[in-house]
Amino acid sequence: METKVAVVTGANKGIGYAIVKGLCENFYGNVYLTSRNESLGQQAVSQLESMGYHPKFYQLDITDQDSINKFRDHIQETEKGIDVLINNAGIAYLLNTTDSAIKPADIIISTNYFGTLRVCETLFPLLRFNAQVVNISSSTGRLSSIPSKELKKQFSDPNLTIEQLNALMKDFVRDTRNNAHIANGWCKYPYTASKVGLSALTVIQQKYFDKEISNRNISVNSVHPGYVETDMTRYVPIKTSRDQSPLTTEEGSRAPLYLALGGHGLKGYYNMCVQT
Ligand code: NDP
Repeated sequence: METKVAVVTGANKGIGYAIVKGLCENFYGNVYLTSRNESLGQQAVSQLESMGYHPKFYQLDITDQDSINKFRDHIQETEKGIDVLINNAGIAYLLNTTDSAIKPADIIISTNYFGTLRVCETLFPLLRFNAQVVNISSSTGRLSSIPSKELKKQFSDPNLTIEQLNALMKDFVRDTRNNAHIANGWCKYPYTASKVGLSALTVIQQKYFDKEISNRNISVNSVHPGYVETDMTRYVPIKTSRDQSPLTTEEGSRAPLYLALGGHGLKGYYNMCVQT
């Protein structure tokens, strides 16, 4: 019988690391902790090994097609398929740069939206029957985050294609470059737009799988993990509507893990963590 395989992107720290730990505890198969920085990833694996867990490591930068291809080839050769794919890697702001030529919108959209899309397009052929895909979105990744009625209509069009969604995300980047995004009805922050895009992508991906001729019964869901204390929220505190204290990474991993481990048949939904 085939050994099951789970893959988590951006898992050297934060919510991704906690998801890997949770999978090591509850998923019967090989768990891949991937990260763009090899030494940080190896350190995270060593830390988990010292707790008695045995994740496998592979370098994976979601903005680098060569890196994604190498990972795909490795999985193809050694495992033959994937049962759980958790698209967790993401950024909210730019650290370590004072270069004003580097535009946050370009980098945030190309990581959170186009990077995740690239991982999906490259790895989806490896998904096995009954696979679960979890896209880590955000509470900002809802349609209500976009002020313009016309844009809302385009994002929620039931016939929206990935090509049309890509064009919308490129429009946002172009508009921010021209400082015209607010006037054109977009949200203020690139992070918000990237997560709205990711939530919309999830719906399209599920429709695609539902129509597969040899239907693999694949589920794709997006999820807001809750307001979680990580490096992301440490540097740029995400304000919540209620005065909530942040969740631990372990608490933030619960909703993604619930979906990854079956999600009681949920398919193509945007899910909110119920924060206590
Ligand atoms: P962290 O900043 O702690 O972790 C983000 C992870 O993504 C890091 O491992 C980072 O790697 C990795 N990453 C960034 N860019 C890339 C890339 N190009 N390729 C591969 N990995 C990359 O943040 P969180 O744990 O908080 O965030 C995890 C996910 O949860 C994100 O998608 C975030 O948007 C989402 N989220 C978080 C919330 C919160 O309250 N914390 C709320 C809602 C959503 P590196 O260490 O090299 O930077």
